[in-house]
Amino acid sequence: MGRENVVQVEARGIYASNAQSMKEQAFPTLLSGRFANMTVSEMYKYAWKNMTREKALEVPSYRDFLCQQLGSEGCEFYSARDVLKREYGEESTLFRYEKNRDFSYFSHEYVRPAGGLSDIANAVERSANRFGVKMYARERVKALNRKDNMFTVHTDNFTVSTKKLIIAVPSFPFKDITGDVAEEIKSNRQFEAIISKPAFKAAAIYSYPWHQTKAGSNLSRHDLAKWAKRPFPEEEIFIVGEAYSVLSEWNEGALLSAYNALKEGWEIEQPEHY
Ligand SMILES: Cc1cc2nc3c(=O)[nH]c(=O)nc-3n(C[C@H](O)[C@H](O)[C@H](O)COP(=O)(O)OP(=O)(O)OC[C@H]3O[C@@H](n4cnc5c(N)ncnc54)[C@H](O)[C@@H]3O)c2cc1C
Repeated sequence: MGRENVVQVEARGIYASNAQSMKEQAFPTLLSGRFANMTVSEMYKYAWKNMTREKALEVPSYRDFLCQQLGSEGCEFYSARDVLKREYGEESTLFRYEKNRDFSYFSHEYVRPAGGLSDIANAVERSANRFGVKMYARERVKALNRKDNMFTVHTDNFTVSTKKLIIAVPSFPFKDITGDVAEEIKSNRQFEAIISKPAFKAAAIYSYPWHQTKAGSNLSRHDLAKWAKRPFPEEEIFIVGEAYSVLSEWNEGALLSAYNALKEGWEIEQPEHY
C-alpha cells in the first residue's frame, strides 16, 4: 500500500503537508532574505518584536500590520498557514496585541469537563434551580424595551417585566432584536466595534462562533468589557458573553463577563460558591 499524503495547507493552488514545503513551492522568494531560515512561528515573533500599544494604534488593520512587518509575500505566507482562511484585514491590530498579552497566562494545558462542555451549562442550570429560577428554553428574545422604570422582554410567546436585565445574546443575533433598549445598545460604538468570525469545523458551519474587534475602531477590549458590564450608567442592564469579553473566543471570556455582571449588579464576588 502506498503512503498517504496528508495535506495540511493550501495556497495559490498548491497543496502541502507542512509550512516549509508550502514556502518552497508557493513562496519561493521567501527562501532568500530575512525570512529564509525562519519557521512560521519565528516570523510571527519577529512581527511582534518590540511591539507597543502605541504602534498597534498606528496601524489599525491587522493585515496591514502583518504586511508592514513581514512584507507582502511574508504576510501572504503567514495567512496561508491556516486550513481555515481568515480575513485578517477586518481584524484590529490593537485587538490582536491585547489578545497576545491577555492570553499570556494561558497554560494551554486544555482540560475537558468529563461530560463535555455542556457540563458547564448543566452546572449553571443546577445552581439556578437551587435558587428557584424559572427557565424557558427555546424562547427567542425579539424585543427589549423600557416601560415605567422597568424593562420589558418580548419573546416568541411571552412578555416579561423586570427591574434588572442581563443580556447574554451574542452581538450577531442581537442585531435582530428590536425595541428602544436594543436599538440604543446597537448604536453604541462599543457594540459596533465587535465583529463575528465565521468558522468551519469538520462538517459543521457556525455563523458567529467567535468575536473580534474590527479594524479601525481601535477600541480596547478592556473598555468594551467595561461598557458591557453596565452600558447605561444609571440602569440595571448588564450584557454578558464571549462577544463582549476580554478573553474572546473562549468560554473563559463568557464566564468572566458573567462574573463581572454579578459583581456589578448583585455584589456577588465568588459565584462559584453558590
Ligand atoms: C466548534 C466550537 C468549538 C469550541 N471549543 C471551545 C473550547 O474547546 N473551549 C472553550 O473555552 N470555548 C470553545 N468554543 C467557544 C465557546 O463555545 C464560546 O466562547 C461560548 O459558548 C460563548 O458563550 P456565550 O454565552 O457568550 O455565547 P453562546 O454560547 O453562543 O450562547 C448564546 C446563546 O444565545 C442564544 N440566542 C441567540 N439569539 C437569541 C435570541 N434572540 N433570544 C434568546 N436567545 C438567543 C443562542 O441560542 C445561544 O444559546 C468553541 C466554539 C465553537 C463554535
